[in-house]
Amino acid sequence: MRTIETDVAIIGAGTAGMGAYRGAREHTERVLLIESGPYGTTCARVGCMPSKLLIAAAEAAHVVGSAGAFGVQVAGRTVDGEAVMRRVRSERDRFVGFVVETVESWPEAHRLRGHARFTAPGRLQAGDAEVRAGRVVIATGSHPVVPVQWREALGDRLIVNDDVFDWHTLPRSVAVVGAGVIGLELALALARLGVRVRLLGRRERVGPLSDPVVGAKARAIVAAALPFTPNAEHIHVARDGEDVRVECHADGELHVERFDYLLAAAGRAPNVHDLGLEHAGIDLGCGGIPKFDRFTGQCGASPVFIAGDVTAERPLLHEAADAGRIAGDNAGRYPDVRVRPRRAPLAIVFSEPQIMMAGESFAELNARKADIAIGEVGFDDQGRSRVMARNSGHLRVYGERHSGAFLGAEMIGPAAEHIGHLLAWSVQHRLTVQQMLDSPFYHPVVEEGLRSALRQLNRNLQMGPVPVERCLDCGPGA
Ligand SMILES: Cc1cc2nc3c(=O)[nH]c(=O)nc-3n(C[C@H](O)[C@H](O)[C@H](O)COP(=O)(O)OP(=O)(O)OC[C@H]3O[C@@H](n4cnc5c(N)ncnc54)[C@H](O)[C@@H]3O)c2cc1C
Repeated sequence: MRTIETDVAIIGAGTAGMGAYRGAREHTERVLLIESGPYGTTCARVGCMPSKLLIAAAEAAHVVGSAGAFGVQVAGRTVDGEAVMRRVRSERDRFVGFVVETVESWPEAHRLRGHARFTAPGRLQAGDAEVRAGRVVIATGSHPVVPVQWREALGDRLIVNDDVFDWHTLPRSVAVVGAGVIGLELALALARLGVRVRLLGRRERVGPLSDPVVGAKARAIVAAALPFTPNAEHIHVARDGEDVRVECHADGELHVERFDYLLAAAGRAPNVHDLGLEHAGIDLGCGGIPKFDRFTGQCGASPVFIAGDVTAERPLLHEAADAGRIAGDNAGRYPDVRVRPRRAPLAIVFSEPQIMMAGESFAELNARKADIAIGEVGFDDQGRSRVMARNSGHLRVYGERHSGAFLGAEMIGPAAEHIGHLLAWSVQHRLTVQQMLDSPFYHPVVEEGLRSALRQLNRNLQMGPVPVERCLDCGPGA
């Protein structure tokens, strides 16, 4: 076995690992990026990008299907499953190709293929090499959680998100287990493409939402879009010939249904097992995840750093990229470890309508017993939303009493991806609700709905006037 000596070893060439590589390389040329799977990242290969490609096809189908609301009749609408999946795969391959090109442009001596495992502090075994590293960055990502019994019972009829994007056509029917971000996005997209879908969730949760009012609206919207069991319990699955038989209890009743496939989307677990972390000389916390500081990426005072989905903290692309860069930079400059501020939280679900969470969530504010007031708006009567026939949704905004600081928001509704950005930026720039209201709002836009919610919030903070009902000079339906 050969020995490789390096200043910084990075385990995992995903988004966080690639960011870490760039960060570390600003300090040293002795960097080693270790990858056990194919290059290309979860995001490009089986995550953000292919899922959005499938959703884009679903949106196209929906726009055509709902054109009748505007008096536009489209005859003979069909969804060509093979063409849909061909585009998903070919665009996905294009995105993956760019990532692979980038990694392969890095010096060969900086890259090692193989599954890395700690054998001692600063020592890894990976592929055919023993790696002696001054510092190590763990950026191993996460994997879908699938109950072993389901795999045994269903064989190839049990699928995860990775499998969907390799389909050559659309199936007739799928049971999607898990109404979190991934399950929700895929279930809604497949349903819009004409696949018979049932979405099975637990504890009435929809996506990442924690606000009970927004959550209730989201449940109603999803239930109107597809068969949705938000409180499925005791799910039992079995193979029945070519079918998957799904049995569950909900509201005291037994439900049984058959599908072509069962898509398991009931959560992801960090890739911390089989890494030999017990030999790494670091403290492990809940679920075997190393204890670390999110502002430095450092594990205790050790020369080990961690970044991305493996931390089980905010499993999002931009967070993985930032955390990777911070961890790599600090691994490179170790022991001169620097604190780096993190961005305001922002999460978007590409459901229809979209869901967004910006700043602190309702649950987080409750947990820290924050003294808050709330403003809200429904989108059923909102002017621009009605114009577009996309008038469904609800937004709640949170502000701090006495300071008037804007703290966060949760929403399901039209243009949530854009409103989410405005609100996350407002949190990051520490704006007050009044400062946000003093900013421009065009007419007629969906953001006028946000303004209504902010006005109500300012009033509830005792910092603004009673909002005018159906304010005409604010624009009809604002
Ligand atoms: C279906 C889906 C949709 C998503 N949509 C969005 C979205 O719209 N927006 C968004 O912000 N985020 C989205 N995400 C989340 C986003 O993709 C992740 O947050 C991000 O890709 C995490 O990057 P990472 O570097 O932590 O992990 P990864 O990109 O998974 O990289 C980890 C790498 O480590 C390697 N590895 C693991 N163990 C070892 C080992 N022992 N030795 C060597 N290599 C190892 C793996 O092979 C892998 O290449 C989505 C995820 C999924 C699954």
